[in-house]
Amino acid sequence: MDVVDVIRAKRDIGVLTGAQIDWVIDAYTRGVVAEEQMSALLMAIFFRGMTAQELNSWTAAMIASGERMDFGALSRPTTDKHSTGGVGDKITLPLTPTVAACGAAVPQLSGRGLGHTGGTLDKLESIPGWRATLTNDEMLQQLRDVGGVICAAGDGLAPADRKLYALRDVTATVESVPLIASSIMSKKIAEGTSALVLDVKVGTGAFMKDVAQAHELAETMVELGIASGVKTAALLTDMDTPLGRTAGNALEVAEALEVLAGGGPADVVELTVTLAREMLRACGLGTAKDPADALRDGSAMDVWRRMIRAQGGDPDADLPRAAHTCVVSAPSSGRVVRLDALAIGTAAWRLGAGRARKEDAVSFGAGVEMHAKPGDVVRAGGPLLTLHADDEERFARAIAALEGGYEIAAAETPFTPRPLVIDTVGA
Ligand code: URA
Repeated sequence: MDVVDVIRAKRDIGVLTGAQIDWVIDAYTRGVVAEEQMSALLMAIFFRGMTAQELNSWTAAMIASGERMDFGALSRPTTDKHSTGGVGDKITLPLTPTVAACGAAVPQLSGRGLGHTGGTLDKLESIPGWRATLTNDEMLQQLRDVGGVICAAGDGLAPADRKLYALRDVTATVESVPLIASSIMSKKIAEGTSALVLDVKVGTGAFMKDVAQAHELAETMVELGIASGVKTAALLTDMDTPLGRTAGNALEVAEALEVLAGGGPADVVELTVTLAREMLRACGLGTAKDPADALRDGSAMDVWRRMIRAQGGDPDADLPRAAHTCVVSAPSSGRVVRLDALAIGTAAWRLGAGRARKEDAVSFGAGVEMHAKPGDVVRAGGPLLTLHADDEERFARAIAALEGGYEIAAAETPFTPRPLVIDTVGA
């Protein structure tokens, strides 16, 4: 086969055959198809889209580029969650032990953050001693012994996606529903879970800015999962406002611990319990222990402590704190009616919580603490946000990112919060 013919076919005819797709993904993964040729093909896909059949073939070819894990030997059913990424999204931390405490096995392969959204591994690495890299055998053993594991995806899982994602990042071809759906689902299907719940974020702090786009992505991913025999459902959830009251690695771990101790912000608890119930339902444990009880009775916290210890971490160690803080005060009295997720995420990133390039280190203590969320009443001069950074020079640029990022109206202004769960797709 000739790659130029494949690019031309996508450009002019619009549809590729299964054989063309299998060949081009395999040849690209092996380095036979050049980066500039794959760039041209990705741009043709960006404009032409993909039929359902092409998308199934493209996803299957990405899965076939690497290993496929198998948890069939476990006595518990496996279930997993994937979030498309948001600001203050620490849900994986309380969710994984909660679902494990209710009887399922949760193999949660996670990533590091890039840009304004944080990564689960960065948050966990703020716990002294904790290590993200496990062998497949260690992962299986931890699932057997503890029931939950959060670790880095190995290099052998969907290597075609790793190359393609890096290329999409530098060729303006990330924002394509078929390319996002195949990228996420190839990794999740190769991971070998039997059930999957997708948390598709919608709003200013998310990839998908509007509900129609998010719906299309959710439906596409659910269809791909079901076609591969994975029981898949998706929730569309709000990301106009950050989740919880913290954005930043160690700050978010501390908040997750509050949830595991039976407290924590209402939105984080609501989303943890809602996703946990969906995950249990999807893997056939819908009538098992209720996740809200696992948070209340301490069993989720017990699993968390065992998970952290199993990966070398000390669950009792003090979490890192940034060297400096700066309080942003409310400019007027009244009701907070908007707190923009993108503004908070960008501020946290500029404070050092995130990275600009893959090889950058993150500051574990950096981030934003939110003292008021939409609906809360504040006093002029009272604290609205506390910024945390290791380097005081970072505060000015973080404050600049917050400009226009919040709105305070008269205290009597009626306020109706946007629902956290906007819609459900599948299952
Ligand atoms: N996350 C992924 O893994 N892939 C995408 O394309 C977008 C988000």
